[in-house]
Amino acid sequence: MGKETVWVLGDQLDRSGQALAEADPATHRILMVESLGKLASKNWHIQRAHFVVASMRRFAEELRDAGFEVDYRRAESLQQGLADHRKQFAPVRVAAMEPASRNGLLLLQRQEVDVCRSNQFLCHPDEFAQWAKGRKSFKMEDFYRWQRRRLGYLMDGDQPVGGQWNFDAENRQRPPKLSPDQARTFWPSPPQSILDEIDHQVIADMPSTVWGAAPDGTWATSRDQALLRLDHFIVNLLPRFGPHEDAMLTGNWHLAHSLLAQYLNIGLLRPAEVCDAVEVAYRSGAVPIASAEGFIRQIIGWREYVWGLYWMWGPDYRHRNELEAHRPIPPAFRGEAPTQMRCVSTTLQTLHDHGWVHHIQRLMILGNLALLTGVEPWAMATWMWAGFVDGAEWVMAPNVVGMSLHADGGMMATKPYAAGGAYIDKMSDYCKGCRYDRKQRTGPDACPFTTLYWDFLARHAERFGRNPRVVTQVRAAQKLTDLVQVRVRAQEVMEMLDAGTL
Ligand code: SF4
Repeated sequence: MGKETVWVLGDQLDRSGQALAEADPATHRILMVESLGKLASKNWHIQRAHFVVASMRRFAEELRDAGFEVDYRRAESLQQGLADHRKQFAPVRVAAMEPASRNGLLLLQRQEVDVCRSNQFLCHPDEFAQWAKGRKSFKMEDFYRWQRRRLGYLMDGDQPVGGQWNFDAENRQRPPKLSPDQARTFWPSPPQSILDEIDHQVIADMPSTVWGAAPDGTWATSRDQALLRLDHFIVNLLPRFGPHEDAMLTGNWHLAHSLLAQYLNIGLLRPAEVCDAVEVAYRSGAVPIASAEGFIRQIIGWREYVWGLYWMWGPDYRHRNELEAHRPIPPAFRGEAPTQMRCVSTTLQTLHDHGWVHHIQRLMILGNLALLTGVEPWAMATWMWAGFVDGAEWVMAPNVVGMSLHADGGMMATKPYAAGGAYIDKMSDYCKGCRYDRKQRTGPDACPFTTLYWDFLARHAERFGRNPRVVTQVRAAQKLTDLVQVRVRAQEVMEMLDAGTL
């Protein structure tokens, strides 16, 4: 009797993944397909494309070392790779784990692949649907507490350790005043891998459409190397994770952020082992509760919440555009024009260098500018998906379309995440030395964020004037004595953004 095939998708690189866990080299063959069409489908950051492809090729080697016959194919599409595999090997059955995208699931179903339930997340979409059933609102905090209770992280019996569910109030501190040298010691950089033959071949195979700085070993492309990064984070950074998690500094690109999401997203790390490591570090006394809780909330709260919403809200969600935003991606984002906005240029430089910026730079710099100027939501989501090492459709649809650009009318976030220069100045060191003045809202030196913020509130006064979370700011915008000049300047700013001269 012939062998069965287990098809391991590019974001399922985990030996304990459901379809792979019970596979036996004697009875199962492995199929992996590198889709050239997918590589050409977007302008990927080279570090993101390299991360996925090098991880796939390395995982294939690991499976071969474990005794499996691995059919690793480069094909025009996933379908073509499967068809070629079937033609060559005539497997008695092809099985795969549920993929992380709706289109992926449709593809497997159409190709008559036996799909088994995914164990890549701690809360399966079916469980999320059960949690959501009958609820009038789907608040992250409610979901998070439900996850804490059922998974048992940071719990004393039925109560949260430390007597509180959420220590966010302690986690929004301004950046500490450190020199670049002090910052390097305070937030040590992650280990770097030495690029090997696999890496160099992957880089050579990249299409000409990739952009960004070449891979430098920052991102692990094997489970062993990803586990080293996890240890580094737990020992060196987690104790400092909480207080400054919203801060932004010119001289340090990662601060205390874990830089682990991409490993979770393609299976090199598992969410339970990451949370277990955090719990152990907290119980040993090495990590304060505010940092441990803040990080656990990112994993079992936000990450799983976004995953559940992606599946619950269906395929049309990504096309929502309640604010009727139709501006194309600004030339500065596409690397076609430099910008004098120091906050934006610093963030884009980090993105160019590493294929990554942290959540506040995504939400309050890039996303904020896109919200204030009306960039088309799915175009923005797609740009971020292609540009970040941890990008994925399920991540970007709720986070960008919903949370950042408020294009879902408030399903994801009850207020728009809009801010002017004052917020950016408070949470970063960007404004010092910027060509613009964050306190001015009119005139050629006015901070574009400050101008655009007031213009945005005035423009959408009817919609947000009834929102208790922003009504005060909307009324303040309507009362500005120079509102006419603000709106004129906002038009100039948007034209300059489009022209690449801002
Ligand atoms: Fe950004 Fe405005 Fe500050 Fe310049 S002044 S860094 S544009 S927020």
